[in-house]
Amino acid sequence: MRALTPYVPGEQPRDPDVIKLNTNENPYGPSPKVLSAIRAEVNDALRLYPDPNTSQLKSILAEVHSISPDQVFVGNGSDEVLAHIFHGLLQHDEPVLFPDIAYSFYPVYCRLYDIAYETIPLDVKFGINFDAYNRPNGGIIFSNPNAPTGRGLKLDSIEELLAHNSDSVVIVDEAYVAFGGESAIGLTEKFKNLLVVQTLSKSHGLAGLRVGFAFGHPTLIEALERVKNSFNSYPLDRLAIAGAVAAIQDPEYLDKTCKQVVATRKRLVSELERLKFEVLPSQANFVFVTHLRNAAEDISHALRDRSIFVRHFDQARIADYLRITVGKDDEINALINALQEILAETEQRDLGK
Ligand SMILES: *Cc1c(COP(=O)(O)O)cnc(C)c1O
Repeated sequence: MRALTPYVPGEQPRDPDVIKLNTNENPYGPSPKVLSAIRAEVNDALRLYPDPNTSQLKSILAEVHSISPDQVFVGNGSDEVLAHIFHGLLQHDEPVLFPDIAYSFYPVYCRLYDIAYETIPLDVKFGINFDAYNRPNGGIIFSNPNAPTGRGLKLDSIEELLAHNSDSVVIVDEAYVAFGGESAIGLTEKFKNLLVVQTLSKSHGLAGLRVGFAFGHPTLIEALERVKNSFNSYPLDRLAIAGAVAAIQDPEYLDKTCKQVVATRKRLVSELERLKFEVLPSQANFVFVTHLRNAAEDISHALRDRSIFVRHFDQARIADYLRITVGKDDEINALINALQEILAETEQRDLGK
């Protein structure tokens, strides 16, 4: 345990006045129907354990995605779903493969569960080089859209990867898919080796409720159920189940709020480009940017002094980048004003040298 390096989540400041653009939460929050469903569940029935199989939620998810309930797994946030996947399905002789720039929980789970892994470098434009994955492996995992780059992948390249790796479990982590990506859930019928992971944390504004899913062939789902039932029979409590059901049953709200995020993202991108940032094309609720003159870490500190939090990863290849969550319009206006000030100040200082 002393040798473990745990995942470090983005900071959750206590000060409510902080403009929080560092952990990709949805600024619009959950549907009002979710809140009333949770309130209705606050009653004496809380003395009883919840449904260990979360059958109602699984049926509703199956219906929405036109699959059967035995192709659905649910967990306490997709982080827990991913943990069970690594633990139960990815321990093999050959290494698990994932991009060098990926969700930083993947290597953490590998080290926790003693799983060999190798990272495959993204190309210079941070795109996935799929050919590099056609080699012996103990599983493949990546996010689509990718985190923290925001870049989306085409389904036909995922399909090709699945066909080339029919003996490996391939996991597509779709935490951000609702903001403009293409879901691979439809491919689970054709490819028994595919697991698609989703979450209510980002698109449904429910990071605080902790609900995540996996979709795939019943054999893989059954394996995950075994891991789960050897670990915690009740990963979703009664309030989480009620909230998740209501969230899935309100697609109009999801659609409306995601469209708002996408519209704000478009404006944010053009404002950032005007300020001489280079912005990677994003299909997520965040943008990944680098500035042509100023160091990312300096900008991040200067923003922090103005109570605006963004995420900087002190990691090879991306140390000059910032990940900025698409907030509400007034938050983005405050960010742009602050950046304008910061860049003008450093320009003044540099001219004075
Ligand atoms: C946020 C995120 C998760 C974790 O989501 P939870 O459901 O809140 O645990 C998983 N994968 C990626 C790529 C994420 O960005």
